[in-house]
Amino acid sequence: MKQKGEIIVLGAGESGTGAAVLAKKQGLPVFVSEKGKISEKYRRVLKQFEIDFEENGHDTVRIFSAGKVVKSPGIPDSVPMICQLREKGIPVISEIEFAAAFTKAKKICITGSNGKTTTTLLIYHILKNEGVNVGLAGNVGKSFASQVAFNDFDWYVLEISSFQLDGMFGFRADIAILLNITPDHLDRYDNNFQKYVDSKFRILQNQRENDYFVYWADDPVIRRELKKRKVTAIPVPFGEHSAHLYPGAGIVNDKIRFNNDKNSFDMTLEQLALQGKHNVYNSMASGVTARLMEIRNETIKQSLSDFQNIAHRLEYVASVHGVIFINDSKATNINSTWYALEYMEKPTVWIMGGVDKGNDYDLLKPLVAEKVKAIVCLGLDNRHIHKAFDGLVENIVDTETAQEAVSAAYYLAEKGETVLLSPACASFDLFENYEDRGNQFKAAVNKL
Ligand code: ADP
Repeated sequence: MKQKGEIIVLGAGESGTGAAVLAKKQGLPVFVSEKGKISEKYRRVLKQFEIDFEENGHDTVRIFSAGKVVKSPGIPDSVPMICQLREKGIPVISEIEFAAAFTKAKKICITGSNGKTTTTLLIYHILKNEGVNVGLAGNVGKSFASQVAFNDFDWYVLEISSFQLDGMFGFRADIAILLNITPDHLDRYDNNFQKYVDSKFRILQNQRENDYFVYWADDPVIRRELKKRKVTAIPVPFGEHSAHLYPGAGIVNDKIRFNNDKNSFDMTLEQLALQGKHNVYNSMASGVTARLMEIRNETIKQSLSDFQNIAHRLEYVASVHGVIFINDSKATNINSTWYALEYMEKPTVWIMGGVDKGNDYDLLKPLVAEKVKAIVCLGLDNRHIHKAFDGLVENIVDTETAQEAVSAAYYLAEKGETVLLSPACASFDLFENYEDRGNQFKAAVNKL
């Protein structure tokens, strides 16, 4: 590939470092610029591959003479440097876009507001069990670019966020999966939901007639958008009422029916390893995708029933004197928490709160009225929560550490009830990230 000017990589995290190594291995001139401090792990990699880098600030003269910029998904498009790069006509792309140019592998790409990681791992699990030469990348595990650089595969299962999609232009998914669209990250989209929706639909760009588009057919936003848009790929709907569609997947008599264009097979809901309504959809999306690839029915069935749940997603922690504790720290928006509450069968003490990304709590009120006996706020600013739920829930208490929250919840819960951490908010006010929040929650439960 001919390259005019340097490749400048902005951000030296997993994806940035991977992109830099791939560029270097391809013999392209590359420079990494990091606003903060580069972690020891990535500094070592950059040094090992003799990649030029800077940290704690940007050499803007050098950056503005770039041939191409690979931007970390953490950097918003609205920061002045990115705006100026675009004004100068310098392409600003994501690591996924960059790496895709150097591999012939086929790509299964999963996007949506919730369920991406779960579905990505489910599909990867099925393909591995079938013996497919497949890599796992995107928001999970090692970067796509570093795998392309060192150990390319025939297939990749890629988890793709809207921030990555915003930097993708020529990329093409062989199988694109759109799980759902509900409000999230609106702070990065000028509080304009349509902009976020448009970003998600970029997963379809450049698809050809023989590619596939797998989507949740019951999602009102997706349905509305599909009326406005032309889809080139073969549509593969899944959902409550799609059991008669070929290819597609749906529900018949409490069973999931998976159809490709040749045949179909059923699986009972009890056979699924992951429980909860949302996981029925994730399992449907995964199974129908595997059918498109002609993976054997037996492998699909086995894999969907022996998959190990991932931490922080409706994760069972412990039962302490008959009170069950569940960690759903990854629920950082309203929709994911909706499914957690929907899944609750017993009276629930709900630990929630944190950094609110513009939540509309009205959507949760019916479930809260039905299932929640007390709310434990775990966040610095709980005003929105009180405004929404004072009066609806008798007991609402404020806490500022995981330990305080767990003690308060344990005090409020009775034998046979459930304590659910499902915050509907980001964690950055009190924790490093959602994993830290979930781990501190689990540690506090284990100390009870
Ligand atoms: P993502 O990678 O999109 O953030 P995860 O699989 O990590 O998704 O799940 C994030 C949160 O959303 C968890 O709380 C999980 O229980 C919930 N969730 C998973 N799948 C879905 C879905 N299909 N619809 C709504 N919520 C979901």
